Amino acid sequence: MQVSKLTEIRWHGRGGQGAVTSAELIALAAIEEGKFAQAFPSFGPERRGAPVLVFNRISESEHIRVRSAVTQPDIVVVLDPGLLGIIDVTSGLKDGGTLIVNSSKKLADIKLELGGPWRLAVVNATAIALELLKVPIVNTTMLGALVKSTDTIKLDSLLEPIKERFGKLAQRNIEACKRAYEEVSIAELIPASERIERAYVKESWPSWRELAPGSVVTEPGNARSYRTGDWRAQCPVFNHDRCIKCGICSLFCPEDCVNQNEDGYFEADLYHCKGCGICARECWTQAITMVEEIEE
Ligand code: SF4
Ligand code: SF4
Repeated sequence: MQVSKLTEIRWHGRGGQGAVTSAELIALAAIEEGKFAQAFPSFGPERRGAPVLVFNRISESEHIRVRSAVTQPDIVVVLDPGLLGIIDVTSGLKDGGTLIVNSSKKLADIKLELGGPWRLAVVNATAIALELLKVPIVNTTMLGALVKSTDTIKLDSLLEPIKERFGKLAQRNIEACKRAYEEVSIAELIPASERIERAYVKESWPSWRELAPGSVVTEPGNARSYRTGDWRAQCPVFNHDRCIKCGICSLFCPEDCVNQNEDGYFEADLYHCKGCGICARECWTQAITMVEEIEE
């Protein structure tokens, strides 16, 4: 009896980056090819910028009965390079699997950081998305990298789901997907002996029991309990020439991290700023600009 091949994918992204959409589009494309597929997220704090996990399972010819989170993926896709220093994205990745990373760094440099017994694919999806979509949302771009570096689905199978999802914006998303397909750099298996162990800064999250004994409701105003600066993909830059010191940005910041300095100007505490961009949207003099974080 032939055993159906089951491929498991884990996506690492941030709230608002479209990881859920990526997984859904892959599942729809697999179904288009006559396969069976699942796509489902696992959220922690449901806030823009917070790290999120999304999972796919794709089976060639059998129904998929398992519903649990993917802990030993065949493929890992990292949408945000800022996650590499804070999360062990390779956790559980199978030997011989594929790790696909959005990064402006060269393949050789990422290989030094994340080398292991797996294939490695690197593409500067943020640059492609900014050029073609004018926003740093890389979900459709990373689909092209995934298709090229694995045999999960065919590029053509993605086109219809993208058209249905994005309507009049579909063509630009298809272009971004195809550009990543062309530009992704791929390194074959890296021997286990060459793997470099990395150290991760892990936050110890209190359990809900510790936060609110006898209840699942946490206390209000606890935003500063978390180092939400690790969630940031974009950073607010304040232009003092335009700022009239009204304090609106401080009022609207959901992390309560915009403070007034000695000169009366407002600035963000980057330890807690999660890069949501709300301050920039609310500043009525356009004194705040969101800029991309630079990879270290
Ligand atoms: S909302 Fe804009 S103008 Fe007002 S304090 Fe903040 S940066 Fe300055
Ligand atoms: S400072 Fe601005 S970008 Fe940072 S968390 Fe507050 S509102 Fe969001």
